[in-house]
Amino acid sequence: MTDTSLKNYGADVFCEKAIRKYLSKTVAAKLIATMKEGKPLDPSIADAVAQGMKAWALEQGATHFTHWFQPMTGGTAEKHDAFLEPSGVATAVQKFSGKNLIGGETDASSFPSGGLRSTFEARGYTAWDPTSPAFIKRHENGATLCIPTAFCAYTGAALDMKTPLLRSVQAVSRATERLMKKFKKAKAHVSVTLGAEQEYFLIDRSFYLKRPDLLQTGRTVFGAAPAKHQQLDDHYFGAIRPRILKFMHEVELRLWQLGIPAKTRHNEVAPAQFELAPMFEDINLAVDHNMMIMEVLRQTAEANGLVCLLHEKPFDGVNGSGKHCNWSIAYGGKNLLSPGDNPRDNAIFLTFLSAIIRAVDLHADMLRSTTAGAGNDHRLGANEAPPAIISIFLGDELSSVMKEIETGRPRNPVAPGGKKGMAFKFGVDTMPPLPKDSTDRNRTSPFAFTCNKFEFRAPGSSQNCAASQMVLNTIVAESLDAICDKLEAVGGDFNEELQKLLQRLIKKHNRILFSGDGYGEAWPKEAAKRGLPNLKDTPSAIAPLEDPSNRALFAKYGVLSETEMASRREIAAEDYESRVLIEGKVALEIARAMIRPVVADEFSRLATAIGQAKKDGLKVGVKGLTALSLKLGAGLDDLHVKCEKIEKAIQKGETQGILATMGDLRKTVDRLESLVDDRKWPLPKYREMLFIY
Ligand code: ADP
Ligand code: MG
Repeated sequence: MTDTSLKNYGADVFCEKAIRKYLSKTVAAKLIATMKEGKPLDPSIADAVAQGMKAWALEQGATHFTHWFQPMTGGTAEKHDAFLEPSGVATAVQKFSGKNLIGGETDASSFPSGGLRSTFEARGYTAWDPTSPAFIKRHENGATLCIPTAFCAYTGAALDMKTPLLRSVQAVSRATERLMKKFKKAKAHVSVTLGAEQEYFLIDRSFYLKRPDLLQTGRTVFGAAPAKHQQLDDHYFGAIRPRILKFMHEVELRLWQLGIPAKTRHNEVAPAQFELAPMFEDINLAVDHNMMIMEVLRQTAEANGLVCLLHEKPFDGVNGSGKHCNWSIAYGGKNLLSPGDNPRDNAIFLTFLSAIIRAVDLHADMLRSTTAGAGNDHRLGANEAPPAIISIFLGDELSSVMKEIETGRPRNPVAPGGKKGMAFKFGVDTMPPLPKDSTDRNRTSPFAFTCNKFEFRAPGSSQNCAASQMVLNTIVAESLDAICDKLEAVGGDFNEELQKLLQRLIKKHNRILFSGDGYGEAWPKEAAKRGLPNLKDTPSAIAPLEDPSNRALFAKYGVLSETEMASRREIAAEDYESRVLIEGKVALEIARAMIRPVVADEFSRLATAIGQAKKDGLKVGVKGLTALSLKLGAGLDDLHVKCEKIEKAIQKGETQGILATMGDLRKTVDRLESLVDDRKWPLPKYREMLFIY
């Protein structure tokens, strides 16, 4: 039995408790203020912090330290240095300084930079992010101290995911403070929060090792859907199998030790699909934690003879995996997205809500761009994930309040008690209580208000949430500022002006509100009528990063300079093209070197059998054998033609051509899968991978 007392919760984190134990009182107080309130770090304490951190890390068994960062590869990066300094011939001491803690210099030339790093300036710099605590990564016989850092080029240009996220938090914090001042609220700390629900698949490792496509691309490029998959809805929230539960619990114990509040676990919709949801945290920490969660999932799976697939669409025809990003803002610890119980708090709530509606309507394209990627392209809009069209779901209750503000007409012409109903009035009315259930029903919406937060469901399971959250923070900052600008421009009664302003605003942006079926055929048509963008694939989804007005917006808020944004588009395009090209090559190789020989063998075996049967004058069986051999022969010809086509597309490097011919080739291969002797089929089948674990 493992220890279940939570005694070790956070034991591998240089957390407040450790900080107080290993640092002097004044140094600890300064560091904690920086971590909690985002106060600038006093550089003079760096050495003292480093000493305390080293002492703590050594006690945890660490031999090395590393700056841990999130380059634009989608993953994390680390380069380890030993706590070692020779002190003479064959003697050494364990050393770690403030300089080692605060910054590092590393060769950035092999990380994607999208043209930001000129070849003669290959250095990259890592800078300590004191707001995310250092932690220990363990391996079988040792440990490493990991220091979360930002990563930038010599010029200061961001080469990572964290830097713009931190900048965007600053932007939305400033804008929130500005608006709260209008509501005469005392200055308080703004915290942006994120709870990222992580979906994933688990399959037995023995199957995985026999699938070159899974090994090299993370998804199956071939595989016929099994007769039974998710039609019976019998997996979602079903009883968790013991092998999986053991895995999940190991994951949780590791995460708890890392201070990651893993809270919820359950079976997901597709067979072999699961979800892990931590409690929400400060957004920067939540992003770091999600990156660690993905790593722990992968490693623990391996240790259990399983493989954790984080790809958005490992299996065609069953649900893909997303990463629902639950986002909110709190002011002085109070969630601004939960309606209050007095008129002023409600006015604040509705102002924020309106600001978000405006932001998402104006910048739906930018939000969509953060979910682009070769993997997520197979998921978004594929009938069981949110569509590629961004819209907002508010729930019945809230929708009717917004309608009331927009039209100035009461929701209930007759109020309880027989009195005449009145339309919502800022400064006077409170919000009706929002039943949690009513806000969480529409699972087809990409951006849903769920009780006291917005849930962005378009991000893919493998994607770093920093991208979407950075955009969300920035566009909301811009909306809050626009509202403040307007309120400042007009004098008059604050509540009246606010009422008029939000009324106009909702009228203008209500096209983004949609509570219908996002999977329905009618929605894309309706969305087109409303003028909402429907960016179906990565090339079209990342095009908005070239839009001068988008570039100006992110530059204005100091989140991404124009060149940083250009570089991100370039990296996304390159990543997409490389992935599609790899998939094409893998598909071609499997089709030619694994599938074709088997089909050819089967075909020639049949041909021989038919010849023999005819020679022997057999009256029965020849018809069946001939019919099958005709099908196999046609498949063989088909395979040949389609392989040639895909090869040409690969040679030309045309992504659209590769994707189209791959889809075509898949049809042939999947048909052959049902014809060839099951014992001879060279790839583990869906019915095995999805059900045997
Ligand atoms: P679901 O029905 O989508 O599973 P949950 O209530 O389980 O919804 O919440 C999902 C996620 O939302 C969790 O990670 C939770 O911690 C997070 N969450 C809850 N409140 C907030 C908030 N104020 N800000 C950000 N995330 C939140
Ligand atoms: Mg959810």
